Formats: sequence, C-alpha cells, structure tokens
Amino acid sequence: MDLKQSIRTIPDYPKPGIMFRDVTTLMADAAALQQAVHEMAAPYRDQKIDQVAGIDARGFILGGALAVELGAGFTALRKPGKLPWTTFSETYELEYGTDELHMHTDALDAGDKVLLVDDLIATGGTAEAGLKLLKAAEADIVGAAFLIDLPELGGAQRLREFGIMVHALMAFDGH
Ligand code: AMP
Repeated sequence: MDLKQSIRTIPDYPKPGIMFRDVTTLMADAAALQQAVHEMAAPYRDQKIDQVAGIDARGFILGGALAVELGAGFTALRKPGKLPWTTFSETYELEYGTDELHMHTDALDAGDKVLLVDDLIATGGTAEAGLKLLKAAEADIVGAAFLIDLPELGGAQRLREFGIMVHALMAFDGH
C-alpha cells in the first residue's frame, strides 16, 4: 500500500501557511501502521540496536513499536517537567521562542547503539536536540528514522552533514 495516502493533510494548522501532516490516520489503520513500522525498521535489522530513543509524543508511538520490532529497549526524550529522575536537557529554537527536550541521565549506557525516532523531520531542530542528548550520554548513534521528511526545510540534509544516517519513508513538498 502507498503509505502516503494514509497521511491526512490539514492546511493552515496550527497557523496559516503550515500544511499539517497528520499521522493519526496512518496510526489508526492497522495494516498501514504495521507496514510503516516494518519499513522503518528495515535498514536497522542487522545493526544490533540496543535502544530506540523516541521524541515526545508521536515519536513514542512509532519508537515503541520499532523497539519491539528490533529487539531493543525504549528511551523517552520528553518535554520539560515529565521525567521524574535526574535528566540531561537541551534547549532548541522554535519559530517563536524555544522548547526543551529531556532524557534520564541513566537511560543509556555509554556505547549503547541507539536509533533516534520521530514522526516527521522539518527544520531538524527537534531531532538535533535529541541527538545532543544521546551524545551527552556517550551513546553510539546509529541513525535517525522518520516517517515523513519535509526536504525543503533542510533538516534531514543538515543531520546528514553531521554524519548521521537518516531514513524517511516519504517526503512532502513545502512546509
Ligand atoms: P523540526 O524541529 O522543525 O524538524 O520539527 C519537527 C517536529 O515538529 C516534529 O516533532 C513534528 O511532529 C512537528 N512538525 C513540524 N512540522 C510539521 C508539519 N508540517 N506537520 C506535522 N508535524 C510537524
């Protein structure tokens, strides 16, 4: 099945000019969800991934499924105020203002082979903050997997320039 057909696009959400790529429609479709997780896992099957690190919140759904598929554990990269133990944190720029991602300081062991996962990469600011958390824990970053890439925003390209292997199942034009 063409997974792109399972994504709902909502124009001008959450603000004018943004084409919001809504993955809830794919996730609600059992066959599409299974195919997406299977295809996202494919490049990493022989890589002996120790941990999948999923980004709050849609990255938790795909990342949890990928962890099971790859026989790995799951590490949550969360918005501020959610994790109960000591954390590493990274601040990143949004179009208006900043946001933060946190990870428990003991979530990963140095040298763990880790795959970063989110639903979508746009400018790459969120993923880059996630990668910095993995680096703070001295993880061995194997790659970054996304369902959707918005290539015009350049995030995937930037990650590749940092030497990160990036995979996305589909791309959409524009923002
Ligand atoms: P960025 O940090 O610019 O790469 O943005 C990626 C994060 O913002 C991801 O967690 C996405 O879920 C969300 N996001 C950014 N742009 C869109 C969009 N057009 N549709 C849906 N989600 C988006």
